Amino acid sequence: MLTLLRDLRRLRRGLALPQPDRARSLAIRHVDAGSCNGCEHELTLTSGPHYDLQRFGLGVVASPRHADVLLVTGTVTTRMREPLLTAYHAMPEPRKVAALGDCALGCNIIGTTDNLAGKVSDILPVDLLIPGCPPGPDQIARALLNLIDGRTPAGERCVAERQPVTPPFSR
Ligand code: SF4
Repeated sequence: MLTLLRDLRRLRRGLALPQPDRARSLAIRHVDAGSCNGCEHELTLTSGPHYDLQRFGLGVVASPRHADVLLVTGTVTTRMREPLLTAYHAMPEPRKVAALGDCALGCNIIGTTDNLAGKVSDILPVDLLIPGCPPGPDQIARALLNLIDGRTPAGERCVAERQPVTPPFSR
């Protein structure tokens, strides 16, 4: 057990994630607005023992009423548009919105159908874009830590625009 804990500590040190300037916390409410679940897999890894974002004060909460940031994955479907707006309006001010993954950024990965309401920024004011299909846990971790420190890099583009990706559910 002690050996495992020592190895885990060494692995975490190897990640070299930036330490926030001072002690802060960020409560995250995640909404899957129409994802293929690829982004969720990577998001789950950020909470696992390897990345363990809780040590930086980041935690996923069950209610939008307790959340500082609404983290949205997937292209927003017409059925998820209203629940997404409801979650956003339930959050206390000041509230932030983060779009996670190329689908949420509107990179047209799954094409256009009548069942899609659009990208997240068509529906909510987005503060943070995390590109990738899916973005890796270290990329998600760095972006959220930047959000804690008030750094939200502008001009993030779809990874799908830079290098064509094969959607995980293509035929
Ligand atoms: S960005 Fe990629 S992994 Fe994430 S929901 Fe879209 S298709 Fe799935």
